[in-house]
Formats: sequence, structure tokens, C-alpha cells
Amino acid sequence: MGCNMELEVMKVNEQNIKNNIAAIPDFPKPGILFYDISTLIGDPLAWAETVNRMALLIKDLKPDVIFGIEARGFLVATAVASNLNVGMQMIRKSGKLPGETISLTYDLEYGVDTIEIQSDVITANQRIVILDDVLATGGTMQAAIDLLTMAKAEIICCATIIELPLLRGREKLRAEYHSLITYD
Ligand code: AMP
Repeated sequence: MGCNMELEVMKVNEQNIKNNIAAIPDFPKPGILFYDISTLIGDPLAWAETVNRMALLIKDLKPDVIFGIEARGFLVATAVASNLNVGMQMIRKSGKLPGETISLTYDLEYGVDTIEIQSDVITANQRIVILDDVLATGGTMQAAIDLLTMAKAEIICCATIIELPLLRGREKLRAEYHSLITYD
């Protein structure tokens, strides 16, 4: 079950959150408009509101554990997990996690990237949510979905603070998806 009514209420006030996100042209390379959440996490009220709203998006789905995607996804996932009183786990770039890992290599626009989790962080029948800061092309989120699916996780939903709908990332995702705010 989703939370579409709450989602509509949140959209009304999305400007409050947008006011704390800077759009930086040509970063990290020419042609990219980078949405910077540094101000958002630095403003206690705006960040608390963002975290509360992210938590509201997923709380009816009754997650058991929230996975965050390195690096800014860690900020979102840790805060939301704490808000909902559930555990948080990390989806990291390769070579950062000790012990046995499960990894997945996926295609980028130029080249490939590898993400991984520790092999013992998925428990049978756990209801898992994946969070990140931004959904652009959707490649990163789908790679995270593929990795956790490979590890036999039950992914109930994924979500980001920001969605860039013109890039049509959500169409790529093989999981329920929600965002708090969008930029055209
Ligand atoms: P994508 O795989 O294209 O959906 O890109 C999403 C990932 O890249 C997320 O982890 C974001 O942190 C980062 N990202 C992509 N595009 C942007 C953007 N325009 N502004 C900020 N972060 C971005």
C-alpha cells in the first residue's frame, strides 16, 4: 500500500524544501545542473521537515531496514531510519566494506561502476526500502535494486528527496518509487 494522499499534501509545501537546495550549473562537469543538499542538511528545521516527510512517504509500508546509497544517500537513509526507529545499512562503492560482500557492476554513461553490500546484512522476510538524495537517469537506483534482488531481499519501495522527471529515471525502476520534490 502506498501513501498517495500524504504525498499530495507534501507536494503543496515542496517550496519550503526547494528553498534550501542550491542548483549549481556545470558541476561536476559542463552541462550538469547539480542539486546540492548541503544547505538543506545544514538547516535543522528544513532538514527535520525533509526527514519527517521522507519518513511519512514510506512508514505505512512498514519497512524493517533502510538501505542508503553512497554517499549522500547515507545521510537520508540514516536520518529516516532513525525517525522510523528501524535499522540502516550501506550500499557502498567497491572496496570499502570489510568481510564477505556481494557486488554488482553496472554501466554508466561512460564506463562502469561497482556497488556492494556486506553478505550478512540481508535477513529473510525483511521489508527493505532504498533511499538516495537524487534520482536522475535512475541507473544508480536500479543498480541498487538489482544488487539487493540478487541478495534475495524483499524490496518494498525506493525513494529520493529529489527527482528529475525529464530524465525519466522512474520508468527504469523495477520497484515502487516515490520522491518528495521534482525539478523540470
Ligand atoms: P542516476 O544514476 O543518473 O539516477 O544518478 C543518481 C546518483 O547520482 C545519485 O546518487 C545522486 O547523488 C547523483 N546525481 C545525479 N545527478 C545529480 C544531480 N543533477 N544533482 C545532484 N546529484 C546527482
